[in-house]
Amino acid sequence: MKIEAILQETYNEVIGFENIGETASYIPELAGVDPDLFGVHISTLDGKSCGIGNYQEKFSIQSIAKTLSVTYAYQMLGDKIWEKVGVEPSGTAFNSLVQLEADYGKPRNPFLNAGAIVISDILISNLSNPKDDFLDFVRSIDDNNQIAYSRKIAQSEKEVGYRNIALCNFIKSFGLIDNEPSDVLDFYFTLCSIEMTCEELSRTFLYLSNNGISPKNNRELLTESQSKRVNALMQTCGFYDESGEFAFKVGLPGKSGVSGGIVAVHPDQYSIAVWSPRLNPKGNSYKGMKFLEAFTTKSRLSIF
Ligand code: GLN
Repeated sequence: MKIEAILQETYNEVIGFENIGETASYIPELAGVDPDLFGVHISTLDGKSCGIGNYQEKFSIQSIAKTLSVTYAYQMLGDKIWEKVGVEPSGTAFNSLVQLEADYGKPRNPFLNAGAIVISDILISNLSNPKDDFLDFVRSIDDNNQIAYSRKIAQSEKEVGYRNIALCNFIKSFGLIDNEPSDVLDFYFTLCSIEMTCEELSRTFLYLSNNGISPKNNRELLTESQSKRVNALMQTCGFYDESGEFAFKVGLPGKSGVSGGIVAVHPDQYSIAVWSPRLNPKGNSYKGMKFLEAFTTKSRLSIF
């Protein structure tokens, strides 16, 4: 069966499932999103592109942007970034504080909020206009100038970001943050607010299926070895304390966000994005996980 037909069949099946969970109510702007929107889009390295449902609707990609920020920092500074952030799964929630004290402020990985805050600090120290430069970087991956931040969402999160404020200050007390916490957090909330459609997401992430090279413009975003490592991190840490479950059921490196988006990549083959705002108790899209599990099972296109 063709990949487009499998996508459609899977969509038809999963749309009928009961849709369980709540939207991320701790960010007021996200709580108001229609919880039953559902879109998917696949882009393959051999040029196929197929979307179903609400795949052209923009949503803030939230923690999915952490893959892009770590890519940018890794590209600029290489292995030095691992001095300040680890590469181990945490087995804790995305916003957890518990391990930081025992680990002297060094976050376990760049996908936890703690780790992404440290990467934000690194980017601020190395960019002249952090927000503009980061957005330009993201746009350059697929030559897409339609990608932008949502000021409203960044502001909404900033007003209630007490946990992230705590994380940033706590890490700074160990000396692992160089800049002012308010500047680091402003950048962090802004990067989480980047809005994309499923189509834009799946296209943007194709570089991780293609050994770090954008298939759109041949730009090398990461070396082959770095790309392999970012995929390894997505596989082991991309879904926080549900990363094992995602590997077990879906079998692809991927990254989720609290807006209900998930992007997953199959090295050498394809990138797929799904969006459904209702979250399971671990903060990952309930239907998104179900969809990807059914898709990789039917298509037999997982890495295991
Ligand atoms: N901006 C969100 C936060 O910091 C990102 C979390 C997520 O998507 N898991 O809480």
